[in-house]
Amino acid sequence: MDDGMGKRVQVTDVIASRIKTTAGNDVNLDNLVVYEALALNTLPIRQKGSIFDGAVVSERTMTEMAAMLQRGEGVPIQVMHDTKVLPVGKAFWAEITRDRSNRPQLPVQFYIPNTETDLINKIENATVDEVSVGFQAKTITCSKCGFDYLGPDADFMNVLSLTCENGHAIGKDSVHTHVDGLSAWHEMSLVGKGAANGAKILSQAAAQGAALTASGTTGKALLLQLTASKEPTMPDPVTVNLSELTGFASQLATAQADLATAKKDLDAKGGEVASLTAKIDGLNTQITELAAKLAEAEKVEPVKIDTDPTLSFLTDQFTKLHVALGQKDATAPKTATELIAGITAAQGKLSSLIPVGGVATGAVSDAAKGAGFTNAAFKSRN
Ligand SMILES: [Zn+2]
Repeated sequence: MDDGMGKRVQVTDVIASRIKTTAGNDVNLDNLVVYEALALNTLPIRQKGSIFDGAVVSERTMTEMAAMLQRGEGVPIQVMHDTKVLPVGKAFWAEITRDRSNRPQLPVQFYIPNTETDLINKIENATVDEVSVGFQAKTITCSKCGFDYLGPDADFMNVLSLTCENGHAIGKDSVHTHVDGLSAWHEMSLVGKGAANGAKILSQAAAQGAALTASGTTGKALLLQLTASKEPTMPDPVTVNLSELTGFASQLATAQADLATAKKDLDAKGGEVASLTAKIDGLNTQITELAAKLAEAEKVEPVKIDTDPTLSFLTDQFTKLHVALGQKDATAPKTATELIAGITAAQGKLSSLIPVGGVATGAVSDAAKGAGFTNAAFKSRN
């Protein structure tokens, strides 16, 4: 069980053996009713205005309590810490277990005679549903400096003022106490819901402690009455924060490593991209240059034709012949073959116009002479 008072426990052989270790072999098991209750855990005790505000009981304290019961040193069961009346039962067994968050806790098994019908009814119907342990600790120390409220340097004023010798006030700035070690375990009480609010200092013990201040043995008289804190609905913030932070830190470290790797990859890829871009730029420049050269080459081609002396000559002859024919606007073809064809045709026309052995008109004669068109001239140009 995790919380408070459990249901009635079946008396198995193991449990019977535990009871006999404490109560002796003559005990009549048929007359006993057995219960189990959570006596202590390591959750901070919720007790405002006392030195147990936020106090944490050490696992060692619980281990020593368990050991005491396991040795057969039974602890009396009382009702509401009233030790003026006879005990109503006995705690006979405890062992450290772990809660859902793996924190140590101390469930205690105890028996009550079945003649205590009223009390048994109150337990069964949950009117009585918690236990509170009355014990003396070996040390109650300040979480900040380790000052021992039960030590030789402590006096009862430290307990009353909730402040250690070094000025650390309990309940402020997370200052709390650590309860460690079992000095004496006097009783375990059955208490009603809310009756045992975490922890108490018995007024009698407090008075006793104040009286003992002068003798310097103050705190040992402090009788603690502690009830295990209920596991909060929300997980213990400190535990959660630490574990979450540890998780986050590791996640962050992984993310950082991934990021560094990604950045390296990106840098490498960036380098590749830059190099490829440079290559592309180079190629583009070459293409532009080649295109320019090509354009230049295209421009050069007709010039070459123009400067060809044969073509120039033929074009000239073509033009002159056509002028002679009165066709000034005739367009000279571009190729030598076409020009020769054109010249031959013009020659034919011209021959037909000139009468045999004479010149029809001066103009034609002049034109024909000016043209200087002879086979000799043709040959000489070649
Ligand atoms: Zn302190």
